[in-house]
Parts: sequence; structure tokens; C-alpha cells
Amino acid sequence: MKYVGAHVSASGGVENAVLRSVEIGANAFALFTKNQRQWKAPALKAETIEKFKRFCKVHQFSPDQILPHDSYLINLGNPEAENLAKSREAFIDEMQRCDQLGLKLLNFHPGSHLNKISEKDCLARIAESLNMAIDAVPNVIAVIENTAGQGSNLGWRFEHLAEIIEQVENKARVGVCLDTCHLFSAGYDISSFEKSSHVFAEFSKVVGFDYLRGMHLNGSKTPLASRVDRHDILQDGTIGTGVFEFIMQDNRFDGIPMILETIQPENWANEIKFLRSLEQN
Ligand SMILES: [Zn+2]
Ligand SMILES: [Zn+2]
Repeated sequence: MKYVGAHVSASGGVENAVLRSVEIGANAFALFTKNQRQWKAPALKAETIEKFKRFCKVHQFSPDQILPHDSYLINLGNPEAENLAKSREAFIDEMQRCDQLGLKLLNFHPGSHLNKISEKDCLARIAESLNMAIDAVPNVIAVIENTAGQGSNLGWRFEHLAEIIEQVENKARVGVCLDTCHLFSAGYDISSFEKSSHVFAEFSKVVGFDYLRGMHLNGSKTPLASRVDRHDILQDGTIGTGVFEFIMQDNRFDGIPMILETIQPENWANEIKFLRSLEQN
């Protein structure tokens, strides 16, 4: 079974994300559990947690269908000790919020070396950060998102993801989320059904589908290997729709949240219908 939804707004309370997902005909969703542009947030209230869990139950969203995303400020590979400590503390807080909500996945961007340390050192720092968070909080799986490779961001090569995973002690608590826009911007040519099959075969070899815990389904506004992250709606942009056909017809993408982060929320219901139309019966 394919789980498809969007990164919906949690304004007014995380429980509203559930209702917004129902409105667009989704059976998956992503959300921020706090303001993604601030370091600190008030703790989740018991009442909010209870409502979120109740709404999920009523509308039949299990933790397998929900992919929370962490704050954009966090850099788990930060070369500077003070900023690294701040990021680690914030990430642990994000993991705790997920656990409190009964969620089991937390999607994050791996981190940036800021041109101050080597790629290898940065990847090792990221893995160390994950080991600390996994020790500090039970249950939640840290889901590394591949990036477009803009600036000094790591995680744009499958090898980066594999190198982080290799250094995480508890492999059951680490996973990967692939973003189609980021793949294409990073230089992975998924511009047809056939080409996509080669890229995912490479992913299977370098990382492995056992680690695949989510997908971000996005079009791109920029050309192949641009290293620029600009999302587009699925049927527009530079990638084409072959990759979405591939994903919707391949059972290795069953049972994980697949999330639209496209640019027109008013079009999400249509994009979900479009994705469903690509499924084989
Ligand atoms: Zn992301
Ligand atoms: Zn993404």
C-alpha cells in the first residue's frame, strides 16, 4: 500500500495537520512539531498530545504514515563546538516531541561543514550527534534526507548517507528519506522511468532499501546537477513525471510516507490524485 500526502501546516496546533491531510485526500503527512525557524519552543501540552493522538486514530493515520521534519536551524555536523552543542540539544528536543506524540520517524537534513572541516570529519560529527540523540531518546528513528548539495551541505551523494549510517551504532534507529528534487539537483538523472530504475538500483547498492523510511515527491525548477534546491509542482519543471510513475509502481516504496513539498498547497489534492492515477492495479 502506498502512503501519499503533503507537508501540511501545523498552525493552531499539531492536531490540525491531521485534519488538513484529511481535506486533501491524503493517507500520509509531514509536519513541523514546533516553529521550524526558532531554536526554542514551548513544550507540547498534554491536551495537544491527546488531541493529536485521538485525531490520528479517528482518521486512521498510524506512525508509519507520518514523517515529522526538524527545524532548519539545526546543523548536526557544525564545525564549531558551541553551535554543535546547540544543534544537538535542539535535535534531542525534536526527537522527544516526536516520541511524546507517539511518532517514530524524524526527518532531518544531515548538516554542513561550512568550509571549516573536511567532509569526512563533518559526516563523523553527524553520526556522533545521532548516536547521542539515539541514546537520549527511545523509539524514534532518525531519518536522514538527501540534499541538493547547495553550499557546503552534505548528504547529496548516496555515499554520504552510507558513511553516516556506517558510523551509527544502533542501525535500527537510522533511516533515509529521498527527495526527488534534491536527487535531480544533486546530479542523479531521474528524468525518465528507465533512468530512475538505474538511480534507484545504485541507491539499493550503496545504501539499501532496508533503510528507506520516507520519500519527498517534488518537481524541480532547476536543471540536472544544478546543486540548487527549488521545488516545483509534479507535472511542471525539469524532471518530468517518469520518476513518479516508477515510484508509484514499485513495491519497494510501499508502506512509507511519501510527502509532497510542492509549492502550491491548493494543488495538493490534484497532485495526490495524479500520483494515484500512476499506480498499477
Ligand atoms: Zn527537508
Ligand atoms: Zn525534502
